[in-house]
Amino acid sequence: MLDKLMRETKKLNLEELRNLHEYIGSKLPPAVVYQQKPSKCGCKNCKEGGEGHGKYRYAYFTYHNKTHCIYVGKEKREINPLEELEKKAKRR
Ligand SMILES: [Zn+2]
Repeated sequence: MLDKLMRETKKLNLEELRNLHEYIGSKLPPAVVYQQKPSKCGCKNCKEGGEGHGKYRYAYFTYHNKTHCIYVGKEKREINPLEELEKKAKRR
């Protein structure tokens, strides 16, 4: 199936390839980048440019040209970006 599809793409011109690329992009879940950073609160130390507290994980991903940041927490865990967006939307 995939072989056949890949062979077919050779027949496409640049414009068609771009359209295909866009179409495939819309079908793919966004790529997630994980980052660890200390969180800052309102305490004196943080306000004065201190280190912050602990190391917390955040997940970043771009979806529909918008970058989203999801708080992951202390433990390492993989998030499902689209599920997280749904959860966020429900909280509103
Ligand atoms: Zn603090």
